[in-house]
Amino acid sequence: MYVPLVLTQFLDRAVKLYGEKIAVIDGSKQVTYSELNDRVNQLSHGLKALQVEKGDKIAYLAPNTLEMLEGFYGVFQLGAIMTPLNTRLKAADYEFILNHSESKILFVEKELFPLIEPVLDKLQTIEKIIVHGAEKDTDQYMSYDRWREQYPTTPFDRVELDEMDEATLLYTSGTTGNPKGVLLTHRANYLHAMSVMHHLRVSDRDTLLHILPMFHVNGWGSPFYYTANGATQVMQRKVIPPEIFENINKYHVSVAHMAPTVLTMLLEHFDEGNVELNKDQDMRIVIAGSAPPPAYVAKVEEELGWEFIQVYGMTETSPLMTISQIRPQYDDLSKEEKYALKAKTGYDMIGCEVKVVDESGEEVPWDGKTIGEIVLRSNTVMKEYLQNPEATAETINNGWLHTGDMAVRDEKGYVQIVDRKKDVIISGGENISSIEVEGYLYDHPEISEAAVIAVPHEKWGEVPHAMVVKKKGSNLTEEEVIEYARSKMAHFKAPKGVTFLDELPKTASGKIQKVQLRDQYWGDKDVKVN
Ligand code: ATP
Ligand code: MG
Repeated sequence: MYVPLVLTQFLDRAVKLYGEKIAVIDGSKQVTYSELNDRVNQLSHGLKALQVEKGDKIAYLAPNTLEMLEGFYGVFQLGAIMTPLNTRLKAADYEFILNHSESKILFVEKELFPLIEPVLDKLQTIEKIIVHGAEKDTDQYMSYDRWREQYPTTPFDRVELDEMDEATLLYTSGTTGNPKGVLLTHRANYLHAMSVMHHLRVSDRDTLLHILPMFHVNGWGSPFYYTANGATQVMQRKVIPPEIFENINKYHVSVAHMAPTVLTMLLEHFDEGNVELNKDQDMRIVIAGSAPPPAYVAKVEEELGWEFIQVYGMTETSPLMTISQIRPQYDDLSKEEKYALKAKTGYDMIGCEVKVVDESGEEVPWDGKTIGEIVLRSNTVMKEYLQNPEATAETINNGWLHTGDMAVRDEKGYVQIVDRKKDVIISGGENISSIEVEGYLYDHPEISEAAVIAVPHEKWGEVPHAMVVKKKGSNLTEEEVIEYARSKMAHFKAPKGVTFLDELPKTASGKIQKVQLRDQYWGDKDVKVN
């Protein structure tokens, strides 16, 4: 018998088995799973009254809140598509995304409303704006609670769904160009959730602190797998390290997912010595998406006492595809060797077939040094980029998704990202990893930030060029930086020129936009952007 894999099943299970358990803690608000379900039903009835239909896009601009979590399930009952927006964009970005996605309804947290106010009259398809936390209606929007509370909590007559129907629309970070709209099906999100649940050993005894924003690839899918398990979900609206530690202690948090920058902030705050974690702390794992140095892993595990797990993914893949843990065959390695393994990007998660391939599509040897592109075949891969068939065809080729991330794979099967394809510098036929060169520059005591890009060169085709932000008060010169680089790395890798900047261009999530840095050297024929 065929039973479609649809995400509404996750909340149904929690209501049936954990109805009276606390589902969400959001500041002073606490709701059980059955109360959460009541609110979800009210929301769905309300959306129906607004003539929302299957396939309509419903946009959310909110931090991690109860309202955001219930939004996912309320929207799914109508077969509509959850479209969460990054809260750190500019008004023009919201205008672009809301019009490009043809979103019909926009839910906004009250304190974020000023972000979209300047472009309200440019939104072509939005029919209603509904504001979380607003006490009353205005001529611009309706109050969420007043609106929702008019509707019954009775079960909603759901729209019939197939697993291949679209569930979520997410925009990429825009690190390498304009953000692209990624359409993910119920099936992709569902199977991704099942795989993550297994690898992170998610259970009904867990309490999750939602630090990673739910707008970012659905918080790596956590609204799905923690709900399915009836875990308690604590909302962290803003990244404030003392508050995060306080919540971890107060609510006996057992698991948290976060961007690497947040983990760094937590470590720094911890190092200042103001934090006392519960004696028998419940926190079992912290999951971050980046390749940190092994010393950093050691710090998290030994000082904070949390197991560190690295994951790798992209919006287009639901998102996670590899995980870095210690497999039993390596149990006998020393602590340091284990930290070094965990610092690598990772190996295939269940349901993901990951390969590192050369240009002809052949898998590169597992020797830890031959560089290739990471490709993936999985049910968790996106359906397509919204309204962008060319980009879809470029990315998904012969059933394999091309990540654009370059990596090596060691003899143990651990993949290690070396650079993004668009950022690799090809100088006189040698591939240079911009990340590697930046790593050396970051070690310099007077360099605060560095990005290394390819610039055109008559003889070598391309050569590395460093964009550097100096630390306050530094008088570092171009010659000194080049001299230093040549003392640390092979000469062909050392930057041939240096530009000092006050700051580097970044995406809303803090990734450096090298495409902008390259622009001035390559003009509109930016040969690096393929
Ligand atoms: P755009 O696609 O718009 O240029 P983006 O690729 O930064 O933006 P995301 O989908 O948010 O948008 O990020 C995915 C990318 O982040 C990956 O392709 C990879 O380059 C990087 N990344 C994710 N996890 C890791 C990791 N563990 N280590 C190193 N890089 C990672
Ligand atoms: Mg990308």
